[in-house]
Amino acid sequence: MAKQSLGYTELEWTCPFCNTRNKGRAKVCVNCGAPQPKDVKFEQAAEDKPVTDSEGLEMAKAGPDIHCPFCGTRNPATAVKCSRCGGDLTEGERREAGQVLGAQQSKPAADVICDYCGTANPAANTKCKNCGSPLRKAAPKPAAAPAPAPAKMNPAFLIIGAIVALIICGALAFFVLRGTQTETNVARVSDVNWTRSIVVMGLAPVTRNTWADQVPQNAEVNYCEQRERERSAFPTGNSQEICGTPYIVDEGTGFGEMVQDCEYIVYDDYCEYTTVELQPIGLLDESGSDLSPFWPETRLEQDQQLGDRRETYQITFEVDGESVVYETTNAAEFARFQPGSEWQLEISGFGNIVDIQPAP
Ligand SMILES: [Zn+2]
Ligand SMILES: [Zn+2]
Ligand SMILES: [Zn+2]
Repeated sequence: MAKQSLGYTELEWTCPFCNTRNKGRAKVCVNCGAPQPKDVKFEQAAEDKPVTDSEGLEMAKAGPDIHCPFCGTRNPATAVKCSRCGGDLTEGERREAGQVLGAQQSKPAADVICDYCGTANPAANTKCKNCGSPLRKAAPKPAAAPAPAPAKMNPAFLIIGAIVALIICGALAFFVLRGTQTETNVARVSDVNWTRSIVVMGLAPVTRNTWADQVPQNAEVNYCEQRERERSAFPTGNSQEICGTPYIVDEGTGFGEMVQDCEYIVYDDYCEYTTVELQPIGLLDESGSDLSPFWPETRLEQDQQLGDRRETYQITFEVDGESVVYETTNAAEFARFQPGSEWQLEISGFGNIVDIQPAP
């Protein structure tokens, strides 16, 4: 984020003794003459008008003012002696600076009504144009509606939720118990089946997307479009500046700097391209219903390769007139199950085969 200055605006401070609002550049209260105490902060004016007079601009940029260690009067950063008492300012304390006071108020502020005579005054005025009494600060602009408070949970929902949780726990416990209970059965092999397959890899076109500078050399670019690639603090050949809401930073001089945080959206070409890559283009497979599985015959064309191999074996057992299927990828295990042979199966509550032993 790069900071951009939009110039300076004059702040205000309110006299704690007579409640009069004073312009930022006033070192002492225009009404009662009291110096601005160090702990009386500057505030944004009702409307942030840019400072245009050269004297004001010079004051704004001079660096935080110094409070006289003897009488407390605010003096400009460049002063050596207090303008009020002549005291030496080298031991004086500089005002704090750099605090963000708020978003820039660039719209004209509403008039302020005098509490004493009811006259409408421009918000920038510190004294009533009719009766001369001090004017209070213009009411701040209504802030954005606060986020709605999180809705309170209806107690009925809590009760229903608790009941549902209980049911789920009960069901889980039931299934876990059932799953651990097993039954031993004598079974006969009624069917054996196998499948073996090999993936064939070949060169074929494939479409992908990436930034123009990352498209592979041999690829054919189909089309490109401009997209946001990154954010940058600096402008580039193809970028667009975006800035946040301007805000006011207390300079400690009675003036605030109007600042804006900006960055650049950097655009680039994002392209779709087609390239030729080795990828699965076919499947060779064999299957059978015996105990002699074999791999498919492979005849490869130029630029083709063999990919992943898969083998699955299924043994169907007859248990009390019902069929139970056992599946494995182990060819040696599969070879043991002669059709018609008898086995002792341990079957879980879910109907899964947990253990297989030769029948005694
Ligand atoms: Zn005063
Ligand atoms: Zn002094
Ligand atoms: Zn008045």
